[in-house]
Amino acid sequence: MGAPMVVVGSGFGGLAAAVRLRAKGHSVTVLEANNQPGGRASVFRRDGFTFDAGPTVVTAPYLFDELFRLVGRDPRDYYELMPVDPFYRVKFEDGTAFDYVADEERILAQIEKISPQDCDGYRRLAAKSKEIFDVGYTQLVDAPFDRLSDMLRVVPQMVRLRSDLSVYDMVSRYIQDERLRQVFTFQPLLVGGNPFATPSIYLLIHWLERKWGVFFPKGGTGSLVRGLVELLRELDVEVRTNTPVERIVVERGRAVAVETATGERMAASGVVCNADPSFVYAKMIEATHRRKHTDRAVAKKNPSMSLFVGYFGAKGTWDDTAHHTILLGPRYRGLLDDIFKKKVLAPDYSLYLHRPTRSDPSLAPPGHDGFYVLSPVPNDRSGVDWADQSERYFDKILDTLDQGELPGLKSRLVTRMSIDPRYFAGTLRSVDGAAFGLEPSLLQSAWFRYHNRSEDVDGLYFVGASTHPGAGLPGVLNSAKVLERVVEDPAEPVALPRRLARAS
Ligand SMILES: Cc1cc2nc3c(=O)[nH]c(=O)nc-3n(C[C@H](O)[C@H](O)[C@H](O)COP(=O)(O)OP(=O)(O)OC[C@H]3O[C@@H](n4cnc5c(N)ncnc54)[C@H](O)[C@@H]3O)c2cc1C
Repeated sequence: MGAPMVVVGSGFGGLAAAVRLRAKGHSVTVLEANNQPGGRASVFRRDGFTFDAGPTVVTAPYLFDELFRLVGRDPRDYYELMPVDPFYRVKFEDGTAFDYVADEERILAQIEKISPQDCDGYRRLAAKSKEIFDVGYTQLVDAPFDRLSDMLRVVPQMVRLRSDLSVYDMVSRYIQDERLRQVFTFQPLLVGGNPFATPSIYLLIHWLERKWGVFFPKGGTGSLVRGLVELLRELDVEVRTNTPVERIVVERGRAVAVETATGERMAASGVVCNADPSFVYAKMIEATHRRKHTDRAVAKKNPSMSLFVGYFGAKGTWDDTAHHTILLGPRYRGLLDDIFKKKVLAPDYSLYLHRPTRSDPSLAPPGHDGFYVLSPVPNDRSGVDWADQSERYFDKILDTLDQGELPGLKSRLVTRMSIDPRYFAGTLRSVDGAAFGLEPSLLQSAWFRYHNRSEDVDGLYFVGASTHPGAGLPGVLNSAKVLERVVEDPAEPVALPRRLARAS
């Protein structure tokens, strides 16, 4: 058997790529720097609580299912997805609450109470979102954008759909009430974008959520990671943790091996990086092999914002709190300007509060609730000293929750821990501590994003949040589909284990 395809990184993009490559007949090995697979979807266990570190809102679940079906497996043997209702509860400082759901009648009934004149606008906005989805998702989400001609072909549609407008500008054409504008524009934040700058093509997220729903896996998002790793094991793919790759060895313009931190050299028929492409190009490939992705070109890329995430468990349960709550603070545009443009740590915040124990109480000891609270913050270009700020910032957020959404919280806390841009920069090796890879701006989308097939090095590929179509679980799982389309066929195909012959 020849050398395997080496996948560097075991985020969802890397794991999905490994399944797809294996189904194509490659032999595959996954190398992960950390002590567990999953990347941003790692799991922290503390004092009897299970905390999913990152993704908690599972959308477009067919993308997970098809990885299992591709190799003749039933996804239900590996994980269980539970529908979440409401998808999110959005709460404003003035006490207004909005349950963001799929059902149009339920949405309209709430709009009627807040701003009746926006009902008709919402109907038209939903139709617009579907129109954008039919092009931006159905036609383009898993299409390769390797060549400039791929991009030029779609420009007329982008112009027709007004992709030059931001999500906020587009929504404002249909909705007048500022609170409702926030309800229908915060979604780009879930993939690292500023609603005031992210192109309106991202309005497709609204239709995607309405079409397929929002789910939470029983046992937490970590169960999806475990399911994929189990599937890979059955496919004879090793997922090796604690194995950071330091260098990609290029000979005569082709990636032929990787070198790990211990100096081990592993021959590769090709290398698929799920690691941050900016980091890979700048730090893992010698400059002599890079014509397009020079250090200067990499430095010009604009990373997404970062995140502060506080995980905590407490005695008692807060039964009025939904599974997903968005607590909007006093400022919207001003706060986003601070995070994305001025890159300063603002005194106020808007928070996403995750209460997984609402859907699955087994994630905490009996009689307890487990949570995480997430606050978008500027990336490391801000110069914020998180070693100094982190604990104080967390304390302040816990005060806010104690006085509002989770009364009595502080006296009942039993465990807490947090991550901040240092985690993204250090543990996950993301340039500038970006939480979502490259920011999803117009000039960093589609052809302008990192290509799945390297222009500089043959046999080198990328998958994950900084490639097309972008961050978020649907994004990175689709990037693995794009990869499958552009990757070379195996020189000597390796059959799947008999019971796993590819489903036709
Ligand atoms: C807090 C948070 C909440 C989120 N919530 C949601 C959500 O609810 N829904 C949603 O859809 N999306 C959400 N996202 C976004 C989503 O989680 C990510 O876009 C997605 O998981 C990224 O997957 P990826 O394939 O790019 O790989 P990543 O998860 O980024 O993993 C990359 C892997 O590569 C490894 N690696 C890096 N360098 C090396 C090296 N040199 N050698 C070996 N390994 C290396 C890293 O250790 C890591 O494991 C959230 C993100 C965060 C941070």
